[in-house]
Amino acid sequence: MRSTFLPFSPPLIGDEEIAEVVDTLRSDWITTGPKTKRFEAEFGQYVEAPAALAVNSCTAALHTALVALGIGPGDEVITTTLTFAASVNVIEHVGARPVLVDVEPDTLNMNPVLVEKAITPRTKAIMVVHHSGHPADLDALRALAEPRGIPIIEDAAHAVAARYKGRPIGSGNNPAAFSFYATKNLTTAEGGMLTGDPEFVERCRVISLHGLNREAWKRYGKEGSWYYEVVFPGFKYNMTDLQASLGLVQLRRLEAMQSRRRAIVAAYQREFASLDAFQTPIARPEVEHAWHLYVLRLWPERLNMTRNQFIEELKARNIGTSVHFIPIHIHPYYRDKYGYKPHDFPVAFDSYERMVSLPLSPRLSDQDVADVIDAVLDVAATRV
Ligand SMILES: *Cc1c(COP(=O)(O)O)cnc(C)c1O
Repeated sequence: MRSTFLPFSPPLIGDEEIAEVVDTLRSDWITTGPKTKRFEAEFGQYVEAPAALAVNSCTAALHTALVALGIGPGDEVITTTLTFAASVNVIEHVGARPVLVDVEPDTLNMNPVLVEKAITPRTKAIMVVHHSGHPADLDALRALAEPRGIPIIEDAAHAVAARYKGRPIGSGNNPAAFSFYATKNLTTAEGGMLTGDPEFVERCRVISLHGLNREAWKRYGKEGSWYYEVVFPGFKYNMTDLQASLGLVQLRRLEAMQSRRRAIVAAYQREFASLDAFQTPIARPEVEHAWHLYVLRLWPERLNMTRNQFIEELKARNIGTSVHFIPIHIHPYYRDKYGYKPHDFPVAFDSYERMVSLPLSPRLSDQDVADVIDAVLDVAATRV
């Protein structure tokens, strides 16, 4: 057994990131400036986005997109119950109603058949989450959304470097929101990126920074660069050049980090796929999985142990884990406001009760990976 605790998802920050941050600190510009511009351009190019806007979180990107789409009170936004609170909180922020749907048993992504049933005349957007980094069935969702003129917003927090039918997530004209939170595949500590149609993204740029019309000073050139106009009561969602410094270096390392993630996943799959106590994650043939998470689902009867006990046993063996996610509909705010019962979304709830996310980070050494495998196999072997 390992002697030190293995955290669930430690960030991989190297000397290059540190040097780039120090370079910014020593420069004349520490907040949104040249490095943020460069990060937007390079990230946009990487995901083949029509346009990109750097912000200070994925939550900010999602909120900004909803505001820019004009979604508000009386409107409904369809999304998955198996997501992080941020995806759904922002729908509440704009005063709209989140309409939750259940997930597909294999991918844990929003089930398009159930999305169709949830559509009403008040549906103003479908917010899809690419759970774990496995792209959702975008073609099925587009077939529902496009004829009805309903926009699709992608919560791509897990999906940097993911591809659906050969196209990178973020390459579409619809809004896609990426997260650079500390645990994500590419991190700026906190940060996010909104991609989409260039005209839409420029509107979001205004909304994301106090509603300042930055074109104003150009139109009123003689009055100088001090001049601005507030055209909307916007937000303070801009990314700093300190964050962009991290992002620029992380982006250059992303392919190598992704290949390390894939190697770790392959090692887990080799060991766990044949055991009857576990349901291992899958990747459909038409996708490139970003492998943000490795979500193992247990068969508690076969393991003779609950998920919570399994997590405690791993913790006792110095292995950190997590759960993605506690379904939205069982959180007190949403449960009470909308009267949800746990089994209203049976696939998500059942999966939640059986799931555990194992450590997955390019930071893990071969020994770390071997320690995780040994611990899981050891716990599985102790079943009575
Ligand atoms: C991390 C995460 C977010 C929020 O990202 P932030 O950058 O922390 O705002 C949103 N949705 C999902 C599915 C996430 O995992």
